[in-house]
Amino acid sequence: MTNENYNHCPNCNWSATQVRERQKPGCPTCFTFHSSLLREIFIPHENTFSHHHAEKSTLRDSLALALEDEDYELAAQLRDQIEKL
Ligand SMILES: [Zn+2]
Repeated sequence: MTNENYNHCPNCNWSATQVRERQKPGCPTCFTFHSSLLREIFIPHENTFSHHHAEKSTLRDSLALALEDEDYELAAQLRDQIEKL
């Protein structure tokens, strides 16, 4: 008996390490299984040299809401937008 698979998504078998390395979930089940980790990945860190701080804040608020609603598709889009700023 082993708990080896404890930290692996039951659907795609991705571990938290794999999700972290790839910066994305392996499948929709990962969204619930690795939810706290994905939150960590999806919410970008404060950018110290942002020229678009206000816009970014708005996007980040929307992102937080999307994550709260577990709308990860929208969250991914918002994250891309934030990264492009
Ligand atoms: Zn998965």
